[in-house]
Amino acid sequence: MFKKILIANRGEIALRVQRACREMGIKAVMVYSEADRDAKYVRLADEAVCIGPASSTHSYLNMPAIISAAEVTDAEAIHPGYGFLSENADFAERVEKSGFTFIGPSPESIRLMGDKVSAKQAMIRAGVPCVPGSEGALPDDPVIIKRTAKAVGYPVIIKAAGGGGGRGMRVVHTEAALLHAVQTTKAEAGAAFGNPEVYMEKFLQNPRHIEIQILADTHRNAVYLGERDCSMQRRHQKVIEEAPAPGIPRRLIQKIGERCAAACKKISYRGAGTFEFLYENGEFYFIEMNTRVQVEHPVTEWISGVDIVRTQIAVAAGEKLPFTQRQVELRGHSIECRINAEDPYKFTPSPGRITTWHAPGGPGVRVDSHAYTNYFVPPNYDSMIGKIIVHGDTREQALARMRTALAETVIEGIKTNIPLHRELMVDASFIAGGTNIHYLEEWLSQRER
Ligand code: ADP
Repeated sequence: MFKKILIANRGEIALRVQRACREMGIKAVMVYSEADRDAKYVRLADEAVCIGPASSTHSYLNMPAIISAAEVTDAEAIHPGYGFLSENADFAERVEKSGFTFIGPSPESIRLMGDKVSAKQAMIRAGVPCVPGSEGALPDDPVIIKRTAKAVGYPVIIKAAGGGGGRGMRVVHTEAALLHAVQTTKAEAGAAFGNPEVYMEKFLQNPRHIEIQILADTHRNAVYLGERDCSMQRRHQKVIEEAPAPGIPRRLIQKIGERCAAACKKISYRGAGTFEFLYENGEFYFIEMNTRVQVEHPVTEWISGVDIVRTQIAVAAGEKLPFTQRQVELRGHSIECRINAEDPYKFTPSPGRITTWHAPGGPGVRVDSHAYTNYFVPPNYDSMIGKIIVHGDTREQALARMRTALAETVIEGIKTNIPLHRELMVDASFIAGGTNIHYLEEWLSQRER
């Protein structure tokens, strides 16, 4: 096992990885920007190295600074967390070339899955169902583009191969609008992602976002830990996640989960990963794979009893997965609310000093956050300051526990989205379960009126 790991991230996930290291008897090196200098998790680290100014380009995205920090502290491995450099194949490659272990999949896997066209082709070969669409990238020939759209059936969505974060997509309803949409998306994709390739998919009208968590080791073992429902989204950003997904038959989850685990073996995937699907009318359609730990990993940890971060570290050190698929047993129900420093209804960021931080507790409540009373939320990064996660024997109990937890939470000095979560936890449709990816935005626009 490693003796020392460098954590190339910040905020709640940096603290989460630090906790896993502590528990495993591994020393944790934190890197931090000038804006995070005084954060408690930085002070708590065994060692901490400043890697640059507040701007992420010059700190958390600064590859040479991070690798030098690993060199001067004699760390053996680098955990990238999520966001920042976690899905950057060049970074993973540089980490390994410099003699460190990258806690994540191989650069080849990251590259394969980072390009949505190659990811989709790999999934089709591996027998994972995908959204019907063009075979690979769209050619320039307008006749072929029109023929493809006709075969797929309108409405279609044009998506950039290099897209991410909900950008680089355009929905087309009629043939008249098709060619212009393809041209515009190509031009935008070239400018934004340095890759003008686009592809076409059928646009699904009312899907849910269901994803499968997998773990794989370097000994050809891969398991899935059930699914998560992340349909409560605003602008393609997840707000609430839960596991299991309400109302989806277990046999369908089992079938798709087995396909995902088999696909991991086929592409020699290692570490943690998530297969994201749209789910509509009893069918799953692969949209993309995330090759890292996700924000919402705690809901899966809670129903499966598996520590995903610890397992990431163990398999990176060459260990075998400590359990088989048959030993995975899912229990109860878990819900996560992401706590953001923002106006709860206008969504404008609200950085600044937290004057009161009172976190909830009690049975079945977990809080993953780096914040505390007197913590200053810097304006330079994502507005998420933590997560409240609950577990119950049933979904009803989990909902009741989340209501209690949200009622107990007191955060003063900045605005947060806690009031929004309180309202959603008593919303009849959310309580019924199974809302689709448009539900939250529709609910918000109704609320405005
Ligand atoms: P990104 O990498 O930018 O997050 P995704 O491919 O994961 O892009 O898609 C993001 C979101 O866009 C999905 O969660 C869904 O809301 C919507 N979307 C993507 N593809 C389709 C599709 N074929 N039909 C309907 N909605 C889609």
